[in-house]
Amino acid sequence: MVSALTDTFDRGALSLSAGEGRRLELSAVAAPIELGGERYEIEPRPLPVTLDVSRMTGDGWALRLRFAARLQGSCMRCLDPAAPVVEVDAREVEQPGGGEELDSPYVEGEALDLRAWTRDALALARPAKLLCRPDCAGLCPVCGENLNEAPEHAHEREPDPRWAKLRELKLD
Ligand SMILES: [Zn+2]
Ligand SMILES: [Zn+2]
Repeated sequence: MVSALTDTFDRGALSLSAGEGRRLELSAVAAPIELGGERYEIEPRPLPVTLDVSRMTGDGWALRLRFAARLQGSCMRCLDPAAPVVEVDAREVEQPGGGEELDSPYVEGEALDLRAWTRDALALARPAKLLCRPDCAGLCPVCGENLNEAPEHAHEREPDPRWAKLRELKLD
């Protein structure tokens, strides 16, 4: 079952009874995100996601969302192009009368806000630093050279200015 672009999803349309579940392959909409003034595109577009919907007793629902997305932008260390892949496996439970823990913010009546859940799940699963590769060496703090391309790169240590002053005194 492959649907067109899905923003919200109507669980009622599945007409599942308690204990039943269904796996759906959907296409989600994921807007680019801004991090540290940089813009990251979410690829591919549209984003294929797997949604497992299970009906529980007491009119409850268990939901599982899975997808893999590429965040396309600049490496946060060396500024080269970066496209780390983030794997998402998120779960939500909606149980009427079950209290705050069992009240999903993405479920409103029979509708699931797939767009908001996709965005938030991606934000939670992504690494704090988006890098071109996990061991990116970054830029030289002195001259800005890319240390991935010049691993031997180094600078002569500056002489300590206090010693320079001392030598001046001795010359006097
Ligand atoms: Zn990098
Ligand atoms: Zn340098």
